[in-house]
Amino acid sequence: MPEWHGWQKLKYEAELDPKFADEITAIPGGEKLANCIQCGTCSGMCPLSTYMDYTPRQIVAMVRAGFKGEVLSSYTSWLCASCYACTVECPKGIKITDIMYSIKRRAIQEKVYPKKFPIPVLAKEFFGNVLRNGRSTEMLVVIKLYLKTAPLSMINQAIMGMKLFFQGRIGLKMESIKRKKELQTVLNAMDKEAVSTGKGTL
Ligand code: SF4
Ligand code: SF4
Repeated sequence: MPEWHGWQKLKYEAELDPKFADEITAIPGGEKLANCIQCGTCSGMCPLSTYMDYTPRQIVAMVRAGFKGEVLSSYTSWLCASCYACTVECPKGIKITDIMYSIKRRAIQEKVYPKKFPIPVLAKEFFGNVLRNGRSTEMLVVIKLYLKTAPLSMINQAIMGMKLFFQGRIGLKMESIKRKKELQTVLNAMDKEAVSTGKGTL
């Protein structure tokens, strides 16, 4: 689990990014960000907040205050399970789950997500695989994930992988569809459209 790094470092106002809140607010779902009353309901409802380096309430406060670097490099949005409990219970109607997605997209765009943390790497490898082949080849995604995040752990996982292979639960065949070019055209068009409207894909 990530180490708690809390508010341990002094931050000067000049180091903050005052435009960050406006940028997140402008993305669909972030409109009501300024209405937060810091009640903490979102953090109390969140089943994963104890594992996050910053709770959802802290993330909302930090976005508003301009702590861009800390927010984008935090583990919090990557641990978010999109359960929507925070969004449903927020007394001010703030779409915290959508804000978590906005943070993830910005972190990927600006390449500041936690690089060794498996979830963003997994999301990227999975999407890349589907973009290239139309389907995901599980074995390939898993191997790339371990190579990029925890290569030494592959040795321990090899026995498990062999068991799954012999039980027919995982295959070596490269999965692919026939009309890959057409799929890529559609996905690239969707990606361009999503980026232009601020809803960029992973
Ligand atoms: S539940 Fe809503 S109002 Fe309360 S701290 Fe979370 S975002 Fe802010
Ligand atoms: S949507 Fe994410 S941040 Fe909100 S309660 Fe669920 S896991 Fe926590």
